[in-house]
Amino acid sequence: MSNPIMSIICGGNRPHSWSALIDALKVQQTPYEIVMVGPNPPVAWVPEYFHYHYSNVKPHQAQVAAAVLAQGRLLCYFNDDWVIKQPNALGQLVDEWDKCGDEEAIVAPHMSNSYPYLSFATDKAGPILPFGDVFSRENFLKRGGWDTRFIGIYASNDRAIEMQQKGKPVKICYNIVLDEVSVGSLWDELWQHDRSYLAWLWMEGYELTTPRERDFDVPLRPIRKVRRVASTPYDLTRDDLLYVHQGPKGKWRDSCKNCWELHKICDHVPPPAVDPDIATALAMA
Ligand SMILES: [Zn+2]
Repeated sequence: MSNPIMSIICGGNRPHSWSALIDALKVQQTPYEIVMVGPNPPVAWVPEYFHYHYSNVKPHQAQVAAAVLAQGRLLCYFNDDWVIKQPNALGQLVDEWDKCGDEEAIVAPHMSNSYPYLSFATDKAGPILPFGDVFSRENFLKRGGWDTRFIGIYASNDRAIEMQQKGKPVKICYNIVLDEVSVGSLWDELWQHDRSYLAWLWMEGYELTTPRERDFDVPLRPIRKVRRVASTPYDLTRDDLLYVHQGPKGKWRDSCKNCWELHKICDHVPPPAVDPDIATALAMA
């Protein structure tokens, strides 16, 4: 589709699931594109509005790179095992976003198996945590995307909490269902890093301990009105966004410029000796 209104930005490494993603969305009438950034190319036919770009960077940086490469005025943050099936779901999300009348607004579908709140230990409580968020591309790029200190989960939720604490519109459209189709996720390997960073940023009295406290297992702490520290934005002017990390990178690797320009795959840059923890990440910032 030419001149997309909405760009679905996706950091993905599961090309076997992309046919389902494409299939589910093909009933949409709002002009859209899918911008997929990840280490594995498509294994089956993809339509002309599916744009694949090779990269081996961490999931959130891949999504931010996809945002840079996108053309739509609105972005929708997606994982490659998510599907939305309802006719005109994207059109409704665009309408709901436009109705907010605020360039910092966020609207989202409802993930069917989730409690979209910061706390699910007791009754649903705390700020909304959307999945599949729709937001302004121009505003996103102006802010340098998300906080580079997140690796692969919760960066968009961090933005959503910040907007809510500023009194900006953040809305979940409960009649639009977002399904997660595969089992297993990054959550198991990344919650210790990313979730505890989110909790540390926004919860009064949350301290970083070893092992990490699962804040969602205990009653919700008071939520801060402002972030504990400022966000560290991506430098989107860098031409190595697809192959050199900004912020902690977990198990992901940088590539060197020579390899990137020759054949993309690089074994020269070693992985980090230890996973950086939040204290290290903060010291780096
Ligand atoms: Zn190299």
